[in-house]
Amino acid sequence: TVKETQRNSFMSYDTSMTEKFENMLSIETNLRKAIERDELQVHYQPQKSILTGKVVGMEALIRWHHPTRGVVSPSEFIPIAEKNGLIVEIGEWVMREACIQNKQWQDQGHPPVIVGVNLSALQFHQKDIVQRVKRVLKETGLDPHYLELEITESMAMSNEEYIIKTLNDLRNLGVHVSIDDFGTGYSSLKYLSRFPVSKLKIDKAFINENQEQNQAIVKSIIHMSHSLNMKVIAEGVETAEQLAFLKAERCDEMQGYYYSRPLPPEELSSIFTRDHLH
Ligand code: C2E
Ligand code: MG
Ligand code: MG
Ligand code: MG
Repeated sequence: TVKETQRNSFMSYDTSMTEKFENMLSIETNLRKAIERDELQVHYQPQKSILTGKVVGMEALIRWHHPTRGVVSPSEFIPIAEKNGLIVEIGEWVMREACIQNKQWQDQGHPPVIVGVNLSALQFHQKDIVQRVKRVLKETGLDPHYLELEITESMAMSNEEYIIKTLNDLRNLGVHVSIDDFGTGYSSLKYLSRFPVSKLKIDKAFINENQEQNQAIVKSIIHMSHSLNMKVIAEGVETAEQLAFLKAERCDEMQGYYYSRPLPPEELSSIFTRDHLH
């Protein structure tokens, strides 16, 4: 009967809420121990120049090998780590790992690439963030020109003067800054033109959902980046068609499953020499 169905669907709603909450709690408790227990790992996804086909960058993406649940996706635990503040410690750990790895690739004789690290809002708003970045670079020996910090549009929205000062200080260190998931936030052109950022990363939603409307958005982001003297990279490229479109529109770089998924560092050595792109 209708009543039964209603009751059942209400109950299952209830159960799933409880499950969600318990799940969240267990993630939180375990995440605190994850660093000590060595359960966190950084994977890297190559970024290619569309024009030359060469690998120009690697984005560092965290992975958590949970003792009982297997690999937990960052979209599941990063938001929790942002709420409880753990992201500051985790994020700095990722930055250090990424710098060490990039230095090691260079020391092994690979063509130098820029390593991209996602910076959470909490990290970016630490008063001594510039000093922290400087310290990591010094301790790992990576040349600052080979580190790029990815911030999101929403972080660029608050306290404009502070943002501009921090971004300028980072640039003076020699570090690159890019805006991640571009197109999903609300940054105005006025802000964008004042921010010393070197690259926009077009959000994957505009790339891998092939609608005419999305193509129009992608085109205008590419043209806008270039008129602001920024580079532009497309995230989430999954097909040859998407790549052909981006090439025709003069997008500078691409990142996506079409070329490579994020991989553990030991699987990436061969990719440096794998130049071919259709
Ligand atoms: P993001 O920074 O935008 O990273 C790109 C995400 O898109 C990654 O998901 C990547 O695996 C995925 N991706 C790449 N190519 C494709 C494709 O062709 N198709 C599809 N469908 N997806 C693709 P991932 O690794 O699950 O990370 C999700 C998000 O978690 C990241 O989005 C970032 O916001 C956050 N994150 C990951 N690692 C860190 C970290 O170390 N610190 C911080 N603060 N956030 C992180
Ligand atoms: Mg990113
Ligand atoms: Mg993104
Ligand atoms: Mg992101």
